[in-house]
Amino acid sequence: MAYQLGVDLGTTYTAAAVGRDGRAEAVTLGASNPVMPSVVLLRADGEVLVGEVAVRRGLAEPTRVAREFKRRLGDPTPLVLGGTPYGAESLMSHLLREVVQLATEREGEGPDRVVLTHLHWDHTANLELFPGAELLAPVAELDFWSGPLASHPHFASHARAEDLAEIDRARAQGRLTPLAADADVAPGIRSITVGGHAVGQSVLEVQTATGAVILASDAFHFYEEYELRRPFAICADLVGHDPQVMERFARSASDPAGLTVEVGA
Ligand SMILES: [Zn+2]
Repeated sequence: MAYQLGVDLGTTYTAAAVGRDGRAEAVTLGASNPVMPSVVLLRADGEVLVGEVAVRRGLAEPTRVAREFKRRLGDPTPLVLGGTPYGAESLMSHLLREVVQLATEREGEGPDRVVLTHLHWDHTANLELFPGAELLAPVAELDFWSGPLASHPHFASHARAEDLAEIDRARAQGRLTPLAADADVAPGIRSITVGGHAVGQSVLEVQTATGAVILASDAFHFYEEYELRRPFAICADLVGHDPQVMERFARSASDPAGLTVEVGA
């Protein structure tokens, strides 16, 4: 029977929960703890250890253990484990792989739906872990990354061709569901497109016993982005950022309200 899997790949700890019939339950990722340390160890024979077992083994092999590597996502300089260079994203993939495996063992089947809040590479990597799953993605993102602006230097480095190809494969196999700007994705879970960080950046609104919770994805990273009105460096649009825009550019004939200007004309 279908279930939802929510995963939080944290800087120090990783947590996961499974939802069925509108009820969510934590997945126990440690021996007795629901969370597991976000720690990966590469053994000399190539075997990769994850979580508590990596922490224990790391006491004896400190040069082979990696911690807090999430902070290094996007950094082209690799981490070195026992002499082997490792990208932070591939260490993150070991964490995710472990969580998906534990959830699959517990539930007896893999997750059957994956929601992509936007198509930046750090949100689309590792889709091969869900070979038969339905992918749900905001239509504004799908349109943008298959359109002419995707190759613009300001945007191109934020998505990977191999991930977009994986999404295209899902489309060809009938496993891709474009999400409207406001769409229900499961009982109690709604996708809302907010834009900003990416053209179709979406957040998930999850109804819980204590009220609605927003899974913000990259719409916000830090409180100060909201409190100081200081957007994250990677953004696709800044509505009303500079009032002079409205004076320097011609009003769009297609907007009878006169609130739109043509900057690319
Ligand atoms: Zn992003």
